[in-house]
Amino acid sequence: MTPSIDRLLQSIDAKRDEVVALTQDLVRIPTINPPGDAYEACAHLIGERLARKGFAVEYVRAIGAPGDSDSHPRTNVVARWQGQSPGECVHFNSHIDVVEAGPGWTYEPFGGQVANGRVYGRGTCDMKGGLASSIIACEALIESGLPISGALEISGTVDEESGGFAGVGYLAERGYFSPPRVHHVIIPEPLGVDRICLGHRGVWWSEVETRGRIAHGSMPFLGDSAINHMSAFIHLLETQLQPRLQGRHTAEPVEPPGARVSTLNINSIHGGQVEQRYSLDERGWPTGDLPAPVVAHLCKAVLDRRFIAEENLEAVKQEIVDMLEELKRTRPGFDYGIREIMSFVPTATPKDAPVVDATARAIARVLGREPSYIASPGTYDQKHIVRSGKLRDCIAYGPGILDLAHQPDEYVGIQELVDSAKIMALAALDLTGQLRG
Ligand SMILES: [Zn+2]
Repeated sequence: MTPSIDRLLQSIDAKRDEVVALTQDLVRIPTINPPGDAYEACAHLIGERLARKGFAVEYVRAIGAPGDSDSHPRTNVVARWQGQSPGECVHFNSHIDVVEAGPGWTYEPFGGQVANGRVYGRGTCDMKGGLASSIIACEALIESGLPISGALEISGTVDEESGGFAGVGYLAERGYFSPPRVHHVIIPEPLGVDRICLGHRGVWWSEVETRGRIAHGSMPFLGDSAINHMSAFIHLLETQLQPRLQGRHTAEPVEPPGARVSTLNINSIHGGQVEQRYSLDERGWPTGDLPAPVVAHLCKAVLDRRFIAEENLEAVKQEIVDMLEELKRTRPGFDYGIREIMSFVPTATPKDAPVVDATARAIARVLGREPSYIASPGTYDQKHIVRSGKLRDCIAYGPGILDLAHQPDEYVGIQELVDSAKIMALAALDLTGQLRG
């Protein structure tokens, strides 16, 4: 390694406390989504810091996008640092939203406590730790004085946990993730310090509704229960579709291996009146509202179908429609509707793409071992970068253990923060043409 590269890596070691402090500062802003709290504060924390380091900073509110309102503005931050000469741009994209804390914590969920060589808190791993590492990586690179041709960009974007439409989706439609502005994207999601995530399975969400006829609940034979119809559909899903999906294997290295097949989850189901909190007092009398006895005339379920690169979206949809049509033909009174909610096809960046290559070499240099290549069972913001940005040179790479995401006592290891910052800095240096040879 050349002395200047050594110095760069040492300078990142020296920023150990700084990457921890930055992770803590980010975690202490509870950017819970839904509903999308405190986005503005978090975007400004990032933007003001980077502006002080010489970045040109832009705040982009996704006006008119899903979820945006004056009480919960969808504010994204995009910061760009221009190198000494023209060249390609490496962009680090992190989502700033986190899911709710939920129960079961022994640490303060938004405290950013340090213990056992880790930072604890909601979002430490998914993915404010990765965001902090990418900021430290770029700052160290700029301070190193190494010549950089091209540009470095860092963005903090909203709503990844709810589809990213007001975040990366909004920006990608407006050219923020396309050449000539951006050429390589690294998303520091918590995939592990030595793993490169090339892409993800596809997703199709739909809402199925079955219809019946309302009648008195004491004489159900006079009506036609939409819930019974839905149950017949679910029976088919469980006995026919799910076993079929289990038999469809992908060649992509999806992690965990259990997700190397197609899957279906029924996200939710509801039929009839909305349930209340029912209870009886000491006399055995109801204490609150009571339901009225009716046969349900409507039942709805949301299906979450994840599909593999070897399948195509049209066939995925048709398979479900065929089952509903089959019931319509064979089951008296069966009537249905189906609405699409969201779809994204699988994406996989080629293993020899520049960003993959540069990150792999950086991992080998910093950790002394070869990376492993994986794909994600669920989608993340790469889907917008590929579909709207038309940019394929994109990976997810960052510190943290994916399994901890969304769990109580989520944490990120401090050594991982430092190591991944070094790897991101080297990869960026490589991609801006200064590490070759
Ligand atoms: Zn995430």
